[in-house]
Amino acid sequence: MKLTNILTGPKPSLSFEVFPPKTSDTFESVQKAVTEIATLSPSYMSVTYGAGGGTSAYTVQIAEDLLRQGVPSLAHLTCISSNKENVRQMLTNLKVAGIENILALRGDVPQGQTVENPLYRHASDLIEEIKQFDGDFCIGGACYPETHPESVSASQDIENLKKKVDAGCEFLTTQMFFDNDILYNFMYRALRAGVNVPIVAGIMPVTSAAQIKRICSISGNNLPPQFLRIVDRYGDRPEAMKQAGIAFATEQIVDLLANGINAVHVYSMNKPDVAKAIQDNVRYLIQ
Ligand code: FAD
Repeated sequence: MKLTNILTGPKPSLSFEVFPPKTSDTFESVQKAVTEIATLSPSYMSVTYGAGGGTSAYTVQIAEDLLRQGVPSLAHLTCISSNKENVRQMLTNLKVAGIENILALRGDVPQGQTVENPLYRHASDLIEEIKQFDGDFCIGGACYPETHPESVSASQDIENLKKKVDAGCEFLTTQMFFDNDILYNFMYRALRAGVNVPIVAGIMPVTSAAQIKRICSISGNNLPPQFLRIVDRYGDRPEAMKQAGIAFATEQIVDLLANGINAVHVYSMNKPDVAKAIQDNVRYLIQ
């Protein structure tokens, strides 16, 4: 099923993200976690694409397995380390596997590499390529409520986002954020700039102190004082931190739904217990 049908439907959507294994020896444990999350019957599940594309076959395989379990899947695809042949091969593989939805991404510049890929400077270049391919894919892209770190300004980032939508991006998923007001403000600015596709709010339940350090180094997120107090108090007690992280994410989701944001994507990080806890907490809100 095309995600635009789900995202424009009358019911709120709750979806989960999983990532493929880095090596074949962990494939089975990842597959088990993915299957467990799929049994929750989310609106859809997304499968990330390993930086550099090394695990691309697993992305396709997991997305295909999800379809077999009756869960619509969204396969991520990055282009920064690809040539046209790789991209077309991946599109063929996705098409053959019956996957209808692609999250088209540029990807992060690999460490030590400063030169851009002249074929695919931006996700919009990849989107144009996917549109030219005879695959009838539903194409999504990423957006950044707190501005992409490479952008010189928030307004320039939104202008670039509009280019992505004009290239054929039909929905957007946000980078994680921990302060809903930042999302509301971003959505207002995006709409004013003519970005009028569904925006899916990306929520990360932070369940360990180590995760927070990683998040901040990657995305430079603004962490609200309430969140910092939780980490201060519970960061060194794993079970307590997990419980507080799930509660914080739940509170964010309840507020989003109450404010009419009808699409929430949970960065569930291959953790079925976290996905289940969140789903249980908002079960009646998404009916
Ligand atoms: P772009 O849209 O190309 O944006 C990158 C920068 O270029 C921005 O500063 C933007 O303002 C600017 N820009 C964009 N278009 C133009 C244009 N036409 N002209 C001029 N400037 C432009 N990474 C992975 O490796 N695998 C994944 O599976 C993955 N999944 C992700 C899922 C989500 C929801 C998000 C938010 C990120 C994900 N990432 C993933 C990380 C992502 O690859 C990085 O954030 C990357 O740095 C930017 O990718 P992008 O597609 O947003 O790039």
